[in-house]
Amino acid sequence: MEIKELKNLLFEFGDNVSFEHDLKRKNWFNIGGKSKVFYKAENLKELVNFIKTLKGREKIFILGAGSNTLIPDNLFDGVVIKLSRNFSNISLLGKDIIVAGSAVLDKALSDFAINNNLSGFEFLSCIPGTIGGGIRMNAGCFGKEFKDILLSIQAIDISGNVITLPAKEIKFEYRKTNLSEDLVFLSASFKGIKGDEKEIKNLTNELKLKKEKAQPTRIKTV
Ligand SMILES: Cc1cc2nc3c(=O)[nH]c(=O)nc-3n(C[C@H](O)[C@H](O)[C@H](O)COP(=O)(O)OP(=O)(O)OC[C@H]3O[C@@H](n4cnc5c(N)ncnc54)[C@H](O)[C@@H]3O)c2cc1C
Repeated sequence: MEIKELKNLLFEFGDNVSFEHDLKRKNWFNIGGKSKVFYKAENLKELVNFIKTLKGREKIFILGAGSNTLIPDNLFDGVVIKLSRNFSNISLLGKDIIVAGSAVLDKALSDFAINNNLSGFEFLSCIPGTIGGGIRMNAGCFGKEFKDILLSIQAIDISGNVITLPAKEIKFEYRKTNLSEDLVFLSASFKGIKGDEKEIKNLTNELKLKKEKAQPTRIKTV
């Protein structure tokens, strides 16, 4: 669609939508051009409404932390969606299940697990991305991947329906899954193993040191 048409169509989303938006500061590598539309999803209700309004007429790209995304210099002819802080909730369900929003950073999930004496999440401290990006990439390191801890995903499909996908129905491969490109992941639930806080902390620090030596993650390209 033309930008003029999109401006009318997306008018109700106000300042959360911008056009010919510069993506340079929105990705790990600080590179790239603009997107035809950029939408900051304020909350679930608004995001569902946004997707229903688009009716699949535009290509959609969900941007997490941008640590696995190389944005090309030419205009992205579609809509880039960034989830707001309202998708960053994290909570404990029962004694060993963590539910985390898609915008939660992998490191924050690892820290939360430590604070709740749950092991299995240590490797996440080494990956500079979000839960959404981690699911899409089946991210992992030091022999552990998202698939090892994931129970289920909550997502929005192209028609705006909120669906739940059990992990056992997803095919995970090395750094990829068979999940449809159209899905917007909202949150996920993960299963941990009750453990000793000190041991979990020690293992986390060990992995961080190992990773830091092999590939510095704290240095962001400027
Ligand atoms: C220094 C450095 C170290 C790294 N180390 C590792 C490592 O050890 N192991 C590893 O696996 N990777 C590693 N990576 C790659 C990267 O961090 C991971 O792939 C990470 O999971 C990407 O998350 P992100 O939020 O940055 O995703 P993005 O780069 O923003 O997006 C990646 C993909 O996920 C999709 N996506 C993001 N959020 C959502 C959502 N909510 N719904 C639907 N789709 C979504 C995007 O559309 C895109 O297709 C590293 C990268 C860097 C720069």
